[in-house]
Amino acid sequence: MTKTKQIKKILIANRGEIACRVIKTARKMGISTVAVYSDADRKALHVRLADESVHIGPSPAVESYLVIEKIIAAAKETGADAVHPGYGFLSENPDFVRACEKAKLIFIGPSAEAMEAMGLKDAAKKLMDEAGVPITPGYHGKDQSPKLLKAKAGMIGYPVLIKAVAGGGGKGMRKVEVDADFDAALASCKREAASSFGNEDVLIEKYIQSPRHIEVQVFGDTHGNVVHMFERDCSLQRRHQKVIEEAPAPGMTDAVRKAMTDAAIAAAKAVDYVGAGTVEFIVDGSGKLRTDGFWFMEMNTRLQVEHPVTEMITGLDLVEWQIRVARGEALPKQGEIKMEGHAIEARIYAEDPVNDFLPSIGTLKTFALASDLDRFRPSKSSYKNNKVNSSNNIRYGWRTDTGVTEGDEISVYYDPMIAKFIAYEYKRFECIRTLAAQIIHSKIEGLKTNSAFLRRCLYHPNFAIFKPEEFYKATTNLIERNFSTLTQQGLENENKFIALAASALTFKLRKENPSQSVFSQTDNWRLNSEANLIWIFEKNELPIQAVVKSYSDILCIIELDDNEYKIADRDLEYGANSIMSMGFAQDTNDFSQWRSEITNETVHLSDGYFNLAIKRYAPWLSNSSSASSDTISAPMPGKIIALNVAAGDSVSEGEPLVVMEAMKMEQTLTAPRDGVVAEIGAEVGELVTDGALLVRLEEDAE
Ligand code: ADP
Ligand code: ADP
Ligand code: MG
Repeated sequence: MTKTKQIKKILIANRGEIACRVIKTARKMGISTVAVYSDADRKALHVRLADESVHIGPSPAVESYLVIEKIIAAAKETGADAVHPGYGFLSENPDFVRACEKAKLIFIGPSAEAMEAMGLKDAAKKLMDEAGVPITPGYHGKDQSPKLLKAKAGMIGYPVLIKAVAGGGGKGMRKVEVDADFDAALASCKREAASSFGNEDVLIEKYIQSPRHIEVQVFGDTHGNVVHMFERDCSLQRRHQKVIEEAPAPGMTDAVRKAMTDAAIAAAKAVDYVGAGTVEFIVDGSGKLRTDGFWFMEMNTRLQVEHPVTEMITGLDLVEWQIRVARGEALPKQGEIKMEGHAIEARIYAEDPVNDFLPSIGTLKTFALASDLDRFRPSKSSYKNNKVNSSNNIRYGWRTDTGVTEGDEISVYYDPMIAKFIAYEYKRFECIRTLAAQIIHSKIEGLKTNSAFLRRCLYHPNFAIFKPEEFYKATTNLIERNFSTLTQQGLENENKFIALAASALTFKLRKENPSQSVFSQTDNWRLNSEANLIWIFEKNELPIQAVVKSYSDILCIIELDDNEYKIADRDLEYGANSIMSMGFAQDTNDFSQWRSEITNETVHLSDGYFNLAIKRYAPWLSNSSSASSDTISAPMPGKIIALNVAAGDSVSEGEPLVVMEAMKMEQTLTAPRDGVVAEIGAEVGELVTDGALLVRLEEDAE
């Protein structure tokens, strides 16, 4: 048994969500924590959570979080014995690892050598090729002459991808479709590479058509063990950056999983990898997964943003294992690492999808997480409820990883990620519903967020619908191909939102009366001759009828101005405050999802981006209790404001006849049918009692 090293205090060389995540595990393990912070982060959550904190300089990261000497000094000053780098910032910087070693600090991560070996994509590919790991076909040689590169591209065959060897975060990449575009793309890629990474070398890769991104979580220890913790599918990307991640990968088979995890372990072993790492593969998504259909892209030598999905399915705490490995402990055996269920993560960003995803900086005026609201916890489901994951006491449901609280600022200085929402369920589709519910029931206000966009992605048929007998259709270009339906709203179509409001009322009625037939109710709606449910709204100051053609617990079909709208009830839960969510059914090609709040006057709709109030046309008024189709009587005491007709006038159904003020609201009473006015029972300005006759139509018209 090797002697393990002591770690009593960890300095976290990072900020935001990941700093908070590391602090949480350190605390659980009885290890004290030191936060570092810049000017902008003086009051940040990671500073508040840590036992101690050290100010390391001005807000720009290059003057604070990226300055090795300042971090090392902070660690020495506080007597920390280990440093956790998080992700981003210095996490993949071998100079930082060496500086830690020199200062006798334990770096919680791989060796500087392993980092260097995987740091540049060209050298890494060469090494992987030698280790027998399948690599993406292409050119990754030293000769960088534009002529040679272009010739190589021609040999590889278009389309090709030009990649900066030092690139990361989706930057420094150009897809080239035809020979004629190559020179310009190369020049622009080199410029970006030089300015972003200080290294203009590139490699050329075959652009894999219908690509999926599947990566393997690997872990090495100081005893020479390397294990995997299954795969993650991160195919939902925008500009080569991950948007939604999940584990396991849809359509994964035992044979392909074995091939991919074997390759990933070989990759890690080739660099004597210690700690948590990720081996990323580009996968042919044009058909079912194949053992010869994946190729090494790169290895990330750190904890990954999306590590929580792996934690959920394995019940392991990856940060805990990073720390234990850094202490010199041995990893569990491969056979002891098991997976169960399905987990999906969505990255909630302060950005404006309608405005080209520009960061939306500002104050988080409201940040009310769904997890704070017990009543929204998923409960109804087809499988065994509240099942407890064997190894980690994780309940099915959702989890939020964040570095901010209400009132905090999202600043220009750092990545505008607000939180990671992670859902965990036994089955994939349940998981999608749970994650969508978590997103819609979390109120984030004060800045624009991508939450409406994320929910549409989740419900895009190519993502949401996966039939094992077919192949999984969500590839890395799904978002780009469906950009407008996933980002634009089309608010010009007001009827669509009236239909949504009508379905919100119907679902509510339905849920409040699960046993009883809604047709026995008469106060909030009325029936027309075909016994349809009708809701009346106001549009351009006139009543408009939304006819419920049919409905069930999950689907409502609304007819409005000769159009049919199919609206689905999107999640399992229905809260006590008339908050529910719904969206258009898939065949309408609108994947938006809305939270509704119903009052007597309006139905408020919000998708986390747009907020609308659909005005109800006092429905209780259009259903006068003395429901004769010949008379209009006052539904409650009030004052007559206007009379639009006189005896003898012809009126048509729906025409506004009387305006009265009741309950401090103006109500317009309309003609129940076509006909001729026989009698007017009140005057303008008159105060009438409940049930008073206002207008009577002649009997003959039918
Ligand atoms: P992951 O799969 O963990 O998301 P990424 O490569 O997308 O991996 O990056 C993880 C984090 O590190 C992101 O928050 C990203 O902003 C940051 N990051 C990665 N590479 C760079 C880079 N070259 N320059 C700036 N930030 C980077
Ligand atoms: P980064 O360091 O920026 O993460 P990667 O090499 O991991 O760069 O690639 C980022 C993304 O670009 C991948 O997840 C994938 O969507 C896309 N990509 C990379 N290589 C290819 C390829 N050969 N063909 C198609 N898409 C690719
Ligand atoms: Mg990558």
